[in-house]
Amino acid sequence: MTIRKILTEPDPILKKISIPVEVVGEEEQKLMDDMLETMYDAKGIGLAAIQIGVPKRIIVMDLSKEGEKNDPMYFVNPVIKNKNQDLSKYEEGCLSVPNQFIEVNRPSMCEVEYLDYNGEKKNLKCDNLLATCIQHEIDHLEGITILTYVSKLKRSMIVKKLSKTKANEDRVVL
Ligand code: ZN
Repeated sequence: MTIRKILTEPDPILKKISIPVEVVGEEEQKLMDDMLETMYDAKGIGLAAIQIGVPKRIIVMDLSKEGEKNDPMYFVNPVIKNKNQDLSKYEEGCLSVPNQFIEVNRPSMCEVEYLDYNGEKKNLKCDNLLATCIQHEIDHLEGITILTYVSKLKRSMIVKKLSKTKANEDRVVL
C-alpha cells in the first residue's frame, strides 16, 4: 500500500467528473488499498479517488471511532437511490479543503447502491453521519467540494488562503 498525495483546492482536477468503473479488478482494489492508507494517514473518515487525482467513481470511508477496530467501507460506482426530506446539518471538513469547516445541510437519510471491494452489488441504508459522509464523497465524484456550499465571497477568501499555504510549502529558508 502506498500513501498518495491528496490534492487540495483550488486544484482544477477536483472539478473533474469521475468515470464509472467497468470491472472491479486488481487495479481498482490496489487503488482502494492506497486510498484507505492515504485516508488513515491524513486522519480523514472518507476519501474519493479524484482527491488523489484518479477520476474513477470510487470512495473509501471508515466511520469507526478512535480506539475501535477499523471498519473500512468501499463504494464503487455509488448511486443514491432515495433521499428523505428531512435535513441534517453537520460542520463538514474535507481533506482537500484543509483546516476549514463548513456547515452543510443534507438529507438525513439515503439509500445507496454500489459495488463493493469484490465487485458485488450492494445496497445500504444510511442515516446521520454515514448519510452525510456518503453524500459528501459522491459530491467529489461530480466535481463538487464543500466550497460549493459557501458564498462566492467566502469561497474566494478560503481559496486565497489555501493557495498561500501551498506557496509557503515550497518556500525554503537557508
Ligand atoms: Zn471531501
